[in-house]
Amino acid sequence: MRELGWKVRFSYLPQQFAESGEILAEIRRHLLSCNFTLGPEVEQFEKSFSALIGTRHAVGVGSGTDALMLSLKALGVGPGDEVITAANTFIATVGAINAVGARPVLVDVTPYFTVDPGRVEEAITPRSKVLLPVHLTGEPADMKPIMEIASRRGLAVVEDACQAILAKVDGRTAGTFGAAAGYSLHPLKNLNVWGDGGIVVTDSRDLDGRLRLLRNHGLRSRDEVETLGYNSRLDSIQAIVGNWLIKQVEDITAKRIANAAKYDEAFAELEGDVAIPPRRPNVRRVFHLYMIEARRRDDLYRYLREQGVEAKIHYPIPLHLQTGLAPLGYKEGNFPEAERQARSILTLPADQHLASEQIEFAIEAVHSFYRHR
Ligand SMILES: *Cc1c(COP(=O)(O)O)cnc(C)c1O
Repeated sequence: MRELGWKVRFSYLPQQFAESGEILAEIRRHLLSCNFTLGPEVEQFEKSFSALIGTRHAVGVGSGTDALMLSLKALGVGPGDEVITAANTFIATVGAINAVGARPVLVDVTPYFTVDPGRVEEAITPRSKVLLPVHLTGEPADMKPIMEIASRRGLAVVEDACQAILAKVDGRTAGTFGAAAGYSLHPLKNLNVWGDGGIVVTDSRDLDGRLRLLRNHGLRSRDEVETLGYNSRLDSIQAIVGNWLIKQVEDITAKRIANAAKYDEAFAELEGDVAIPPRRPNVRRVFHLYMIEARRRDDLYRYLREQGVEAKIHYPIPLHLQTGLAPLGYKEGNFPEAERQARSILTLPADQHLASEQIEFAIEAVHSFYRHR
């Protein structure tokens, strides 16, 4: 297996699975109940998750994409509406907007990878309905100006917090600013399950109720359909995994932040070759992805992988230049900062299972690239 050849690999799931004995035992016990949809495991996970984030409600759904899509749907967003989001996000954000029939409107980003509030304001039209900031990499967006714009212009806010569990802005947890926030429990997110899963948080009782209907076919009870909905429930077996791992998420976060701090310190010496994104003092970033900007990025990327460091690029082709998004009518030059970043960004492994020797190995590999080439 190629993964076993990496000295510093990107996926930590083999390590997580090596510690899975108790989770598997619990799943086995649960299987005997033959209760595979919703039920107490999902309710328990929702309770723990809302307590963790500090919202009144949390609703388990089928994926992070569905968490966003159902949030938009619950807010009444549909055809003819526009939803403003970041040009550099993962395709799922735009896919969720498209799935409710609304038009995704992209705007350019800051040097710390989140949507530029000034550009958000410029993109607002009479059709705008929702601002959908993305806390990309685990770096929270500038929520203060974004919330100010939203309230002044009468727009709702939905946060894409899929990469940002436990990130904070001015001491307040990301995901608690908007009407709702969507999280992904995808296997490689900071809090994961062993398949697809997602969750929406909200303080609104009304939204909570609508989300619960929408995720389960619009069923009010076994026999009564109140609205047309979807089949997008958090799987009960996955909720067992989530209930187990959620106990570790504070530790996971602390380790990622500590690993990132080591990288930051070591790369500060490489000024001119490596640029560390601005580290705003009022935010807590949780490093779902540890991203730098690098001179001669493509060469560095190849070199690191040859050395056994599984570097990645999130993402090499900006969304507006993807074939599948051609119908939106964007072209090269529309989002210069996102385009520039796509050519210079590089992601290094920074997860909770890495040993300090592995972080040091990755640091030394980056240093040696610029020393010798
Ligand atoms: C992972 C992710 C999603 C979608 O989550 P899934 O669970 O894979 O559907 C949405 N937005 C961002 C920014 C993500 O990283």
